[in-house]
Amino acid sequence: MIGAKKKAVRLQIIEALGGRCMWSDGCTMGENCGPQTDPDMLHIEHKNGGGNQERKMFGRKREFNYIRNTISGTGAAAPSPGYYKIILDRVTSGSTDYQLLCANHNFKKHAIDRCCNKKENRGKVPCPCAA
Ligand SMILES: [Zn+2]
Ligand SMILES: [Zn+2]
Repeated sequence: MIGAKKKAVRLQIIEALGGRCMWSDGCTMGENCGPQTDPDMLHIEHKNGGGNQERKMFGRKREFNYIRNTISGTGAAAPSPGYYKIILDRVTSGSTDYQLLCANHNFKKHAIDRCCNKKENRGKVPCPCAA
């Protein structure tokens, strides 16, 4: 269960990132076949696939202040360490590492990463996953 405070920060991130699925071919998973805008259906997606590694890193309190200081440059210790707070800081200070994807397109992205983006499959037409 996600805490209310954490949820509020998550909503701020979603707002800062445009509030809708940014699937490159256009998202039609929302109301009236428009882009998905329901925050409960949106994933905050690390564009370069570093999400798992980053979560692990940010999840460790010991390394938190180091990372926090590197990002913000303030040198101040965070009052309440949190992964979402760090992302919000990065997004509002102009980071382009994050995007929103709806649940369906997040799933699709991972499917593509597992197949079409593999070195041995790149440029193959059709891709093995289409067969
Ligand atoms: Zn979508
Ligand atoms: Zn593929």
